[in-house]
Parts: sequence; structure tokens; C-alpha cells
Amino acid sequence: MRAVTWHGRGGVRVETVPDPTIQDPTDVIVEVTSSGICGSDLHLIEVLAPFMTVGDIMGHEPMGVVREVGREVTAVKPGDRVVVPFNISCGSCWMCEQGLQSQCETTQNREQGMGASLFGYTKLYGQVPGGQAEYLRVPFGNTLPIKVPDAPLDDRYVYLSDVLPTAWQAVQYAGIPQGGSVLVLGLGPIGDMATRIAKHLGAGQVIASDVVPERLARAGATA
Ligand SMILES: [Zn+2]
Ligand SMILES: [Zn+2]
Repeated sequence: MRAVTWHGRGGVRVETVPDPTIQDPTDVIVEVTSSGICGSDLHLIEVLAPFMTVGDIMGHEPMGVVREVGREVTAVKPGDRVVVPFNISCGSCWMCEQGLQSQCETTQNREQGMGASLFGYTKLYGQVPGGQAEYLRVPFGNTLPIKVPDAPLDDRYVYLSDVLPTAWQAVQYAGIPQGGSVLVLGLGPIGDMATRIAKHLGAGQVIASDVVPERLARAGATA
């Protein structure tokens, strides 16, 4: 398959790599149809470069169609359309049961002092092959992939992988009282989504700040 791979500081290439295969009975192979490029991916080609290895497959915001399932997978079947969360969690450990999937005890990277593994995100987070690729091996097929309807287009769903839940969490942690005000600093994808979620959850006034006119215009248009 073709995949986006890491080649040193500032070096990213699309190249041919082996297709992923089912390794555990709960694995799923997803044919990726859309994959976000994250601001966090920029860290990989600069500050987090020491934790990357040449050839690592990047990408942690994918969605696609299930093509193959392990023998113990019952929740999804080939042909199902799914969004894959960037955070790899087992769904059954104590942390997952508390809703703290980012600290999943099954995939936690204790020797690195980090939380759960992430797709395509350095040795600190498990060095798991990422989703800026034609195919992706997804573990925990019964609990991790989110099944979505066959229509409409991918751009209605792909943000479920990272942007929407990350922004949702930020707004929840802000603890805005009903009808209260909030200031969102920065209107990249997460900030933009956070302004929408804050309104959706009942904030009275959402104030946002950015230096990029296009971002201000985009967020203002939905206010
Ligand atoms: Zn991301
Ligand atoms: Zn877990």
C-alpha cells in the first residue's frame, strides 16, 4: 500500500510499504477513505523528531471502510463505515470503564511515563503505524472503531476521530456555567470546534481570538 512516512526532520514521503495484516483475533483492517492532518503532526517533523524512526507511518485521524476482521470481532463487519479514534483504548480495563480511555491500562506506555498508545505518534505512544495510509490495522475491533452511517460524505464524520472529542473535552474542562462567557484562544481546528461546542452546550458569550483573518471569518460565520 501507499503511506505517508517519516524521514527525518522536515522529511515526509509517500512511499510503498507492506499492507497491514490481522495480528490479534480482535483486529480489524480498515481501508482509509479520509484522514486528518493534525497540528500535532507538525511536532513529529520538528520537536518530537528524536522519538520517531525513519519509515514510521504517520496519521491519527482516519476513517474508512472495514475490509477484514479477526475471528473474535462481532461489532463490525466488512463493508461497515467507521471512524477510528486517535487514542487506542481497550474498552475493558479499569481506566476505560471510568471513561479515562487516554490512560487505558492495556495500551499505556509506562516505560515512557505516558498514557495510552496513539496511532502514528512516536515511540512515546507505542510507535503504532498511523492512518495517513491506504490501510490501517485497528486493534480492539469490538470497542474502538465508531460505526457511522453510509451517508453523507466523510467530512461530516472524520472530525469524530480527534477534533470534535478533543475540543469537547476542552470545553468540559473549562467548566463554563450555563449562560456564562468563555474565551477561546486560537482558532485552528480545535479552537474553531470549541467555539461551536461551547455555544451548543449553552455558553452565553463566546469570545475568540486569532491573528489569521480567514480563521476569524470562518468562526464568525458560524457564530
Ligand atoms: Zn490530531
Ligand atoms: Zn483500557
